[in-house]
Amino acid sequence: MQKEFFKDFLIGSFVSGRGIDMNIILMGLPGAGKGTQAERIVETFNIPHISTGDMFRAAIKNQTPLGVEAKSYMDKGNLVPDEITIGIVRERLSKDDCAKGFLLDGFPRTVPQAEALSSMLKELGRELDHVINIEVRRELLIERLTGRWICPTCAASYHTVFNPPQVDGFCDKDGSKLFQRDDDKAEVVTQRLDVNISQANLLVDYYSKEGILRTINGEQDINKVFENIATLLRG
Ligand SMILES: [Zn+2]
Repeated sequence: MQKEFFKDFLIGSFVSGRGIDMNIILMGLPGAGKGTQAERIVETFNIPHISTGDMFRAAIKNQTPLGVEAKSYMDKGNLVPDEITIGIVRERLSKDDCAKGFLLDGFPRTVPQAEALSSMLKELGRELDHVINIEVRRELLIERLTGRWICPTCAASYHTVFNPPQVDGFCDKDGSKLFQRDDDKAEVVTQRLDVNISQANLLVDYYSKEGILRTINGEQDINKVFENIATLLRG
């Protein structure tokens, strides 16, 4: 009996590549490439991708008590209080598919949320293994986030860094003068980014003190970024 158990345990460890949980938080500012890396991590390591956005949508759609409560705040245009958010995260992390680990994306956003997460995980008998922060310099983020230009005639989309038009400022197909959406303009992007940066810095400090912060250079090629993350997780 005990032998069987041990065999299953060993096989389980072999299949997952390691015998312990992989409880991960993924951090990265807008433009850092977090979405792409999240997709690759969950695919490669076979753990669920838990984004707060998806979680809220599901809780609201399924009308769970917490979902209903969260919606009442959102309908009034108010922020959802941390205790409700943490309750929704707890419900999600308690599901079977999170038994071997999870990739948490978009949560926590603040230090009080990080503290609440840590005590909630303790109650569940679990702990975080890695907080991966994909780091990209502010100037480069601004360049990535403000690079989009659109053709008013054919709606083609260009990017000054990733997909530049042949003639700067004009559509390749019809020669129309390209324009920028308000959301892509430097002033709007910079303002929004700076709010994110100050919030993220506090979290980075927090997890750095906890000793579980892993910084990844997000200025490299996408494949190289993932290689670094995978090496870290295979530890
Ligand atoms: Zn065009």
